Amino acid sequence: MNSPLLPPGIEPAELAWRDGVPESVRFGDVYFSRDNGLEETRHVFLRHNGLPDRFSRVPECGHFVIAENGFGTGLNFLAAWQAWLSHGPAAPATLHFISVERFPLAREDLTRALALWPELRPLADELIRNYPPLVRGVHRLVLAGGQVRLTLYFGDITDAWQALDFHADAWFLDGFAPACNPGMWLNETITQIRAHSKPGTTLATFTSVGRIRRALIEVGFDVQKAPGFGRKRHMLRGVLPASEPAREYNPGSLAIIGAGIAGCALARNLAERGVPVTLVDSASGPGSEASGNAQGAMYVKLGVEFNDQTELALQALTFAQRFYNTWRGAYWHPTGLLQLAQSDQEADRQRRFLQRNQYPEDVLIPVTREQASELSGVATNSGGLWFPGSGWLEPRNLCRALADHPMISVSCGVTVDRLLPCNGKWHISGADGTTIVADRVVLCTGHLSSRLIPVKGRFRFKSIRGQVTHLPREAIQNPRAVICGNRYMNPALGQTAVTGATFDLNDANPLPTTESHRENIRELTAMLPSILKDTEADGVDVASLEGRVAFRCTTHDYQPVAGPVFDGEDSELEDLFLLTGLGSKGLTYTPLLAEYLADRLSGQPVCLPANLVRRLETRRLYLAEQAVS
Ligand code: SAM
Repeated sequence: MNSPLLPPGIEPAELAWRDGVPESVRFGDVYFSRDNGLEETRHVFLRHNGLPDRFSRVPECGHFVIAENGFGTGLNFLAAWQAWLSHGPAAPATLHFISVERFPLAREDLTRALALWPELRPLADELIRNYPPLVRGVHRLVLAGGQVRLTLYFGDITDAWQALDFHADAWFLDGFAPACNPGMWLNETITQIRAHSKPGTTLATFTSVGRIRRALIEVGFDVQKAPGFGRKRHMLRGVLPASEPAREYNPGSLAIIGAGIAGCALARNLAERGVPVTLVDSASGPGSEASGNAQGAMYVKLGVEFNDQTELALQALTFAQRFYNTWRGAYWHPTGLLQLAQSDQEADRQRRFLQRNQYPEDVLIPVTREQASELSGVATNSGGLWFPGSGWLEPRNLCRALADHPMISVSCGVTVDRLLPCNGKWHISGADGTTIVADRVVLCTGHLSSRLIPVKGRFRFKSIRGQVTHLPREAIQNPRAVICGNRYMNPALGQTAVTGATFDLNDANPLPTTESHRENIRELTAMLPSILKDTEADGVDVASLEGRVAFRCTTHDYQPVAGPVFDGEDSELEDLFLLTGLGSKGLTYTPLLAEYLADRLSGQPVCLPANLVRRLETRRLYLAEQAVS
């Protein structure tokens, strides 16, 4: 067990239980006091950070940020969450809790450790239900209906605080005793703690070791000894002197153009944080264009190399699985999803993928042909990868439900033809003479975005036609789960199952064609030879089939884009943002990217590490005027 794990795996904590209290085998220390862990947390971390009193002074739509070294069992987190609910402002105010963990507890250990605290039971249950798979990277958990946001960095502390962008109001320094775990108390880490603090930031730690005290003073904290908990004589608490009162964040007015899944999810996310949004679209209602299909599969293709692109896809997938659970039974159907090793080439890709990576079973499991057939309920020709937490969505209905919120004002039927800056505001002009004025604008307008961005030069987007085919339920072997290969096949919704889609570059035909239906049926039956009940003459009367055409928007590198718009020179516009380029993976990428942009637009800690923020930047799409032929 000494060989390092392949990416993106991370070694779980190895626990020893003595008298029912968990200890770390690796570090030889307890996770919390044997006397009473919860009371210790309240004494050391809450009281000596001035909590919960400071919670009660957070403004109505404000937020409070706690950062912690060492997530462990999550006891400190749950105690802070509980205190926030009883002393903090009601929603939409948010408690952000940002924590790092190099050796995360396995879910079963977490469940056993948290069972020690009956009074935290409902919160512990919610944490356990949302606990991420054990993979490296940043996991954002939205809890208590958005009142609490947990950002969990699974990896080493030396990387964590460099990767994340935030300023803490309070620090919980809880990384095992410095003698057992010096790696948690390096001077570099203390420098990072200072860098993520602001005037008035407080800290508390159970240790009173002189070296730590001196290092904290060295970077600028006023540090004092205080009485410790139980048998511990002393602990430390500190504050970064406040020279000026903190300024309050004002989001101003915000308009989102484009009411597809990206625009609707972003509008909803902001609305739930108390930010009013105007959502503008040319169609008669949300979810009318590329997000307007009755069914869509929620999947991504994870790369053989675990690079930034793969990390983004994985984080988007696991975030989306948690996000959509709110809509379970309504527009989200987590049936599981099968990615078939349909061709020799794909079988080879999957083989290399499995050799070079180590994914936990709650993300994906390799399956044989027999298992694939059993799981999907349809005979398959090959095995593949099974994603137990994936499934399919009803994108059109979902868009409408997301946009239905009292803080969202929907302006449909407005075809935006110009976006102009004027006296520090954006003027959004509709072809019909409508003008909407906003402090900040987000474009979720697919390939039309390039035309609206008032920057010289061009942003590289491609529009790709996709036609889906609606198959009558009585004509097919209805699968139990989503099956993906060269086509995807959804379990039927009512009397129809959606399959698709074509991938037509340089084809602008907005109407469904018989030819595209024929292509869909040909590819589908190549993937699943027994899917059609009647195998004669392709099994269905192609001419009578119904379907739908939409245009996916992708970028030149087939990766999504989210962030402030590059100004064409050397910086970014502060008040114009893009969220698009989602290709055929919009259902998967949107929840995480909407969370990220909503973090930025509301001045809250962001849920993505710096490498992924860079991956999403708009600058890479830009072509200067002279390069445009
Ligand atoms: N706050 C926790 C709780 O509420 O249960 C207890 C934290 S425990 C005392 C310290 C944690 O720090 C352990 O879970 C340990 O795995 C983690 N840790 C140790 N070294 C680390 C490192 N270099 N980077 C990140 N986490 C580390």
